[in-house]
Amino acid sequence: MIRKGADFMKSIKEGHHGEVYYNGEKVNDITESPAFKAAVSTVADYYDLHWKDEYKEYLRVYNPDVGEETSVTLYRPRNKEELRRLRVGISKIYDFYKGFFGRSPDYLNVWTTLFYAHAEDYFGKVFGSKMMENVIEIYKEAAKQDLFYTHAIVAPMYDRSRPPSQWEDPYIQVGVVKETSEGIVVRGAAMLSTAGPYSERLWYLPNIRRDTDPRYAVFFSLPTESKGVKFISRRGFYPKQEFGEFEYPVTSKYEEPDAILVLDNVFVPWDRVIFYKKPEEIEGFMWHTVNLRGWFNWHFVIQHYSRTKFLAGLAIAIAEAVGINNFINVQEKIGEILIYLAMYESALVASEELGEQLPGIYRPNPQISIAISSMGMKALPRINEILRSISAGSSIPVPAGIKDFENPEERALLDRYLASKGLPSLERVKLFNLLWDTIGSETGMRYEQYDRFSRGDPTIRWAQMYTEVYRDRKQELIKMVRDVMDQMPNPKA
Ligand SMILES: Cc1cc2nc3c(=O)[nH]c(=O)nc-3n(C[C@H](O)[C@H](O)[C@H](O)COP(=O)(O)OP(=O)(O)OC[C@H]3O[C@@H](n4cnc5c(N)ncnc54)[C@H](O)[C@@H]3O)c2cc1C
Repeated sequence: MIRKGADFMKSIKEGHHGEVYYNGEKVNDITESPAFKAAVSTVADYYDLHWKDEYKEYLRVYNPDVGEETSVTLYRPRNKEELRRLRVGISKIYDFYKGFFGRSPDYLNVWTTLFYAHAEDYFGKVFGSKMMENVIEIYKEAAKQDLFYTHAIVAPMYDRSRPPSQWEDPYIQVGVVKETSEGIVVRGAAMLSTAGPYSERLWYLPNIRRDTDPRYAVFFSLPTESKGVKFISRRGFYPKQEFGEFEYPVTSKYEEPDAILVLDNVFVPWDRVIFYKKPEEIEGFMWHTVNLRGWFNWHFVIQHYSRTKFLAGLAIAIAEAVGINNFINVQEKIGEILIYLAMYESALVASEELGEQLPGIYRPNPQISIAISSMGMKALPRINEILRSISAGSSIPVPAGIKDFENPEERALLDRYLASKGLPSLERVKLFNLLWDTIGSETGMRYEQYDRFSRGDPTIRWAQMYTEVYRDRKQELIKMVRDVMDQMPNPKA
């Protein structure tokens, strides 16, 4: 089934979400709350895109795994051509978002589909037929109902110097407190779940590399409306007072609320558990058979390709509007953004061309995907820095709001003094509002933090390029040096 935006809104309005706390109160209607309204409406846009004539051919596909048409984002690519089709579909979505809104439904659709593709060779093989069935059923439920998932991985930052099992309360990180014939009871919290407050399902998949205590080695999917699933939301960055889309064009569409997830003695039926008590099997899940790390980084490359196109456009539009585009230092900086853009573009093609054919799925090249996504952890903040540098002080003296243009006396002044060589005043103010909401507002800063940290810490991820990602190719690289060293003369004995 492919839902429409109105179907998603109805589901959330009917209460198919977790218990959400915002500023001391439990939120009743998420769709009307100022903190979540914009994001809910953008998720609705995602569903509606699947019904728009110009998107249909890219976003809808007959899905033989489900026996009906689904979103392409729930399609298992079996060969290179199908992976390309999936990438083009996701790219259409992120071009629509201008590269923002990274936790739109497609993100976790790809994960759920990936688990399904490895139902047999990983979940069945490692955890037995029950878990294999669970993975299959969870995928079919997601695809047939076109559900919106959030996810949570990382334990709260209580004390990173010790593993959570050694913390004063070992159930700050989510752990199994009880096991029955019907299922398990879990308790604890996760640091962050973007989109949690308006999601219908949760994937909880902890990073058990940090702590191999088996009580934490549990991955499951759960309806967020299950008893005890709670989200404590951070402050909303939505436009305050009389301001709106004119003043905050990014925030008013793409502010993605984040929340702390609390699982307060939550019962998880066995049917929804896909990984249990074998912490050592995380390697196959993250790095090898399933290779979740390769896949989610590939998705980030797509998101960031769209965002880099948007940021490059912003830099060029500003430079040309105010006549700084002929300065060599400005050209060099715009050139740097375009170099990143070319790297994203080539990485997407290369990850398809050099992808890996597995029995049930064709996957993007993990090394390229991880490398370029990790590059983005530093490249996107660097692009923001370039935008700050070339726009200098001009992003600050911008009139407060749209009403400044509605006062005829003031409008005459603005038209005279706020126009630039390349743009009339209204256009210029729109452009600089867009700039500020990208690099300076709370939303802009949150995105920068997201770009740096949403797939782990950049220091660790860059180090892993050496310790993990290129480990098997190390000898090939050293051999280049060895070859020369072996040809160099040795001293006479
Ligand atoms: C906007 C945003 C949205 C997010 N959304 C989600 C989401 O929806 N779901 C989800 O699960 N997660 C989400 N994340 C969380 C993200 O997964 C974590 O922030 C990320 O994994 C990094 O973990 P951390 O913040 O605990 O930092 P840590 O990994 O604890 O790092 C903190 C600091 O300590 C250093 N450090 C840590 N360990 C070591 C070590 N062993 N040796 C040396 N130095 C070390 C790091 O270099 C870093 O400087 C989101 C994050 C952000 C910023």
